Amino acid sequence: METVETTARSCGTCTLCCRLPEIAALDKPPDAWCRHCSEGKGCAIYTNRPQLCRDFLCLWMTDPGVPDAWRPLTSKMLVYEQGPQLTILVDPDHPDAWKQASFPSDLDNWAKAAQARGHYVILFCGDEVTKIEPGVTAPA
Ligand code: SF4
Ligand code: SF4
Repeated sequence: METVETTARSCGTCTLCCRLPEIAALDKPPDAWCRHCSEGKGCAIYTNRPQLCRDFLCLWMTDPGVPDAWRPLTSKMLVYEQGPQLTILVDPDHPDAWKQASFPSDLDNWAKAAQARGHYVILFCGDEVTKIEPGVTAPA
């Protein structure tokens, strides 16, 4: 939703948050491009984009503790927090993305940290919803 640069990370040509989430205020279903998004370029109404778009940045952008590998442009996954829920949206065109490389281990670490705080981790991929339980994605 934002095209932002921080000292460490930038959205670049990523527009994943304009595609994967449902955005009721824009009448946008999940896993569909926002009608205002020009893929690979960004928001066509950037200066007039809704406040919710102005306010949103994914966790990869805001939390240096999220490993570089989670860059949405390449990981095909979007991570953000909603209260006690850590949400992972997986691009349905890459449904196994979260099972690759270091992602299962990272998810396991997040699930453990979330559980310790009374929080939880939910992964969405198309119509599939998975609660990430500690010890499941990366068994000890
Ligand atoms: S209005 Fe712009 S920033 Fe918001 S979802 Fe659509 S394309 Fe993205
Ligand atoms: S998903 Fe993250 S990196 Fe990609 S455009 Fe949205 S805020 Fe930027």
